[in-house]
Amino acid sequence: MRAIQKLERAPGLKLTDIPKPDCGLTDVVIQVKHAGVCGTDLHIADWDEWAQSRIKPPIVVGHEFAGEIVEIGQDVGDAFHIGQRVTAEGHIVSGHTRQSRTGQGHVCPTTQIIGVDRDGAFAEFIAMPASNVMRLGDISTVMGAIMDPMGNAFHTVLTAEIPGSTVLVLGCGPIGCFAVGVARAAGAARVFAADLNPRRLELAGDMGAHVCIDVTREDVVHRVMDETKSEGVDVVCEMSGHPVAIRQGLECARPGGRVQFLGIPQHEVPIRVANDVIFKGLTLYGVVGRKMFETWYQMRSFIESGLFDPSPVITHTFPMEQIDDALRTIRSGEAGKVILEIGGTA
Ligand code: ZN
Repeated sequence: MRAIQKLERAPGLKLTDIPKPDCGLTDVVIQVKHAGVCGTDLHIADWDEWAQSRIKPPIVVGHEFAGEIVEIGQDVGDAFHIGQRVTAEGHIVSGHTRQSRTGQGHVCPTTQIIGVDRDGAFAEFIAMPASNVMRLGDISTVMGAIMDPMGNAFHTVLTAEIPGSTVLVLGCGPIGCFAVGVARAAGAARVFAADLNPRRLELAGDMGAHVCIDVTREDVVHRVMDETKSEGVDVVCEMSGHPVAIRQGLECARPGGRVQFLGIPQHEVPIRVANDVIFKGLTLYGVVGRKMFETWYQMRSFIESGLFDPSPVITHTFPMEQIDDALRTIRSGEAGKVILEIGGTA
């Protein structure tokens, strides 16, 4: 089968021909139709510090995908059938740790991520533990392919109390834009979105942000305080990982408010713990992956009911041969979500 691999401990990705994966007793094999390209794939392609410390080539990259079941392991039972359209949670956990057994599988210490720690989804076929697989129902494989990053946004937003609240989203990459849409769908009274890229702010507006703040032109804290009668917002979603945004996020949260951290800073970030966290009584929440599998069911219901539509964020589609163009498009900052066509258009 054709696959996109990291072959060497050096920059670049290669289109290769490798054997189709075997179907384990508790696995299903999925023919991948569409896959999402993500910042993580960019880090792996560029072979940055993080990639050097984590990735062990050769490995098939890619972790966001959807497709059709073509093979079912002997011990899977009758939960799935051949030809069924599915996606899958890309974090694979042992199921035996305290976390996995108490509804916190998303922070399980045994987590292996497809396309990072084991072979991933930029390939014509992928074998997945059946317990990680989610039926798509009427959802398309294009949309199914981005349920992983959408799930990050659902996890970020829905673990806060949203109905009637004010929400600030800092960083409007695809997950930030999804977060704007989820906050609107969940009944936020007012959603603020901030970024330094005008194209991304436009997408945040398309997803329903009431106020888009260009941080190259105005101070986020001033604007948010202006708009909230100096109260601050109920919920901050920090999606950028930028040290300045992290500090601004803590400042913009109202006393008693909540700050959800998803953006990953490259280095340590100094914050004013006394004034900006303790005396304000803030709740800080670190967002890892998607809750297994609560987030998936919430997300499916929001999408199927039409409450949430991610389509404006999908800006580009490339055939898998053009992975380098896909990566270049993401680097340009002009893209929302970029999709790879792997096995046709079904
Ligand atoms: Zn991703």
